[in-house]
Amino acid sequence: MDFRIPAEFEEELGRYKEFISNRLTPHLGGWYAQKEVPRDLFLDLGGQGWLGLEVDGARFRELNPLKDALFMEHLGIISPGTGVAVLAHVSLGAKGIVLFGNDRQKELYLPAAARGQTLVCLGNTESGAGSDVAAVASTATKVDGGWILHGTKAFVTNGVISDLALITAVSDPEADRNSRISMFLVDLASKGITRTKLHKEVWIPSDLTRIKLENVFVPDANLIGNRGRGLQQVLEIFTNSRITIAALTLGTAEGAFRTGVEHAKKRQAFGGKIIDFQAKSFEVADFYSKIEAVRLLLWKTCWEKEHALDFRLSASMAKYLSVEVARAVGQWAADLFGAPSVIYEHPIHKYPMDAWASSLGEGTQDIQKLIIFREFMKREMA
Ligand SMILES: Cc1cc2nc3c(=O)[nH]c(=O)nc-3n(C[C@H](O)[C@H](O)[C@H](O)COP(=O)(O)OP(=O)(O)OC[C@H]3O[C@@H](n4cnc5c(N)ncnc54)[C@H](O)[C@@H]3O)c2cc1C
Repeated sequence: MDFRIPAEFEEELGRYKEFISNRLTPHLGGWYAQKEVPRDLFLDLGGQGWLGLEVDGARFRELNPLKDALFMEHLGIISPGTGVAVLAHVSLGAKGIVLFGNDRQKELYLPAAARGQTLVCLGNTESGAGSDVAAVASTATKVDGGWILHGTKAFVTNGVISDLALITAVSDPEADRNSRISMFLVDLASKGITRTKLHKEVWIPSDLTRIKLENVFVPDANLIGNRGRGLQQVLEIFTNSRITIAALTLGTAEGAFRTGVEHAKKRQAFGGKIIDFQAKSFEVADFYSKIEAVRLLLWKTCWEKEHALDFRLSASMAKYLSVEVARAVGQWAADLFGAPSVIYEHPIHKYPMDAWASSLGEGTQDIQKLIIFREFMKREMA
């Protein structure tokens, strides 16, 4: 096994980090105050081919999973809230079209999505359907030439800034739990849509939005994938996106860790530096090892995906462990700063909050454990 990052990725990663330093970091304070990720960021990332897809005319290719994960990790180090906005567009919205769109839909939407000109989000969660993804109650009623969608999607990342949303709704109420939901691509400028930005305190500056659909007409051409397969499709999108959220959460852990250690190297107490207390140095060693363990598990998952192997188990383990580690490191690093850590604008404040947010996206920790247990029993105990 070769654990080195390929040279061509290193070179591109160098340019990406430079982009983050020059085009992102200086503006973050303003974005945090506005609580808004500007659309220009997507144009800039898309212009460099950094939005998950390499586009050549109407043809496209998904980015290598390891490269994608490295990009997301480095965004997460600086700003997990900006990272999740990119994740929602690339790994939830556009990914649904990549995985389940037909040729016409791919041609129509993916080039603009890859350039950052059109933004796509995904709305599945409802007040009665979170972990239980299949409990969706929004309805899709067949009419001449299309569908009428009705219902409310409770928590949608990028709901305000996006142009399009993948929406799940019950199209076949008489069918069984596995065959009653379909997925639709909805133009968010359609008549009957109301978007309400929610006041949240995690993953700033991304927006979290409630999308209400009141008898919204969606043409037949915007059914994504197969009628009645919406549940399986959304679950597969989440399986893929677990790689990306694990990378984002690894970045969150690393950002907190490095910010904390830098502080401990400088902060004086009882006549010495905090880093020099052995209790603290052991904690540094502990978290450094755990962060590296998460990274290796994530890279293994990327490798499995690149080689078209089943990455379901590894993706859930990577997501699960990344969150465990990021929550612990985030809390530890905030503690190192003492009182200033509670101030909203303080650089450390976001990390424990954002690690908490990571625990919810793409399935809670309990849901990851359900998947890990099921896969373990199937693979090793059958
Ligand atoms: C910041 C943020 C951004 C989000 N963005 C999006 C988005 O873009 N699109 C979207 O569709 N959704 C989004 N969500 C919603 C997110 O996917 C859900 O919050 C998540 O799936 C959990 O659902 P829930 O909040 O309804 O919790 P619930 O499902 O009500 O879970 C409550 C608790 O019960 C536990 N639990 C549930 N079932 C089981 C079980 N079988 N065994 C053991 N424990 C269980 C859970 O682990 C949890 O601790 C977002 C949420 C947040 C906070």
